[in-house]
Amino acid sequence: MIRLLLKPISVLLMLTTMTSLLWHQSVSAATVVLYHHVSETTPKSTSVSPQQFAEHLAMIEELGLEVVPLTQIVDAIKANKPVNPNWIAITFDDGFRNVYDTAFPMLKEKNWPFTVFVNPLMVKPSKLYMDWSQLKTLTEHGGDIMNHTLEHENLVQGGLTNKQIETNILVAEEMIKEQLGQNHKMVAYPFGEYSDNIKAILGKNGFVGFAQHSGAINETSDLLALTRFPANGIYANPKTLKNKIKSLAFDFENQSPTETLVRNIEKIDTEQGPLWRVKLKGKDFYQSQLACFITGQSGPVKPTWISDLEFEIAAPKSLQTGRVKYNCTAPSIKNSGRFYWTSKLWITLPDDLSSELNEESE
Ligand SMILES: [Zn+2]
Repeated sequence: MIRLLLKPISVLLMLTTMTSLLWHQSVSAATVVLYHHVSETTPKSTSVSPQQFAEHLAMIEELGLEVVPLTQIVDAIKANKPVNPNWIAITFDDGFRNVYDTAFPMLKEKNWPFTVFVNPLMVKPSKLYMDWSQLKTLTEHGGDIMNHTLEHENLVQGGLTNKQIETNILVAEEMIKEQLGQNHKMVAYPFGEYSDNIKAILGKNGFVGFAQHSGAINETSDLLALTRFPANGIYANPKTLKNKIKSLAFDFENQSPTETLVRNIEKIDTEQGPLWRVKLKGKDFYQSQLACFITGQSGPVKPTWISDLEFEIAAPKSLQTGRVKYNCTAPSIKNSGRFYWTSKLWITLPDDLSSELNEESE
């Protein structure tokens, strides 16, 4: 009798395990938020007030999200393992002093990990930036210090050669290692600007790259262009930030082009923006509900579906100069109240700078 009972139970157990595995696979997603200043007196576009920052932390707690080190998310992605949809990582770019004075005590009180991307040549005793001893203190309380280039150089538009870019990244990494004993080999691109060329330089040296445009991430994300949700300036409103930090990651089979520089895209229709084609491994949203917003253009724009798992989208008008994002979202079927969220970055260079770069690139 017991034997007869055991069999159905073990089958049931197996099925349950399989279902939970499948469920985990279909909702593999983590989010990363990005801050610069935490202050009332710094430029609004790159700041949150201490009050807003406290509200964000309270919201993360209320939503039951788990604040994890950025390395934990990246390690899972590197190992091609699903990430927990409740994971969130907190990051700060530039290493501003107000992060030490204002944000750090709040994070320390909660015992939450966080990451600061710094420019080693700007780390010195000052009113604006943290110095090495302050950064050291952060590392003793859950802070990871990572690479944001030596002096916040624009890697795409700064006129640096490939060799100079590589040296910059490696020297910055070495300085952080020497001062703090940390060397995570993760770079946040200054101004969020990267290209296939920059990514190749990082990739060759075993680095991971972080962008500044929005989207949840998982093991199908590009390790050289991991997306983060800016949470400062116009993005600091807790109501809109809430949907972002709960967002889910699309399961990418592939996407093309990976290039961001519009001038490198072949066969571009001059009447509209470049075409972005995405192939998914699976989807937990209705096709008709996927919609994209394009920087500087009115929206939403509906993508064209090529097959059940493949869509393409182009901005209806040609892109404005500078950084433009195609921001695409769709509500989850299985996880009511949560949205899939991804974005694609494009960079259109002013013409004069383009010709200069052509000569210098090697
Ligand atoms: Zn920066």
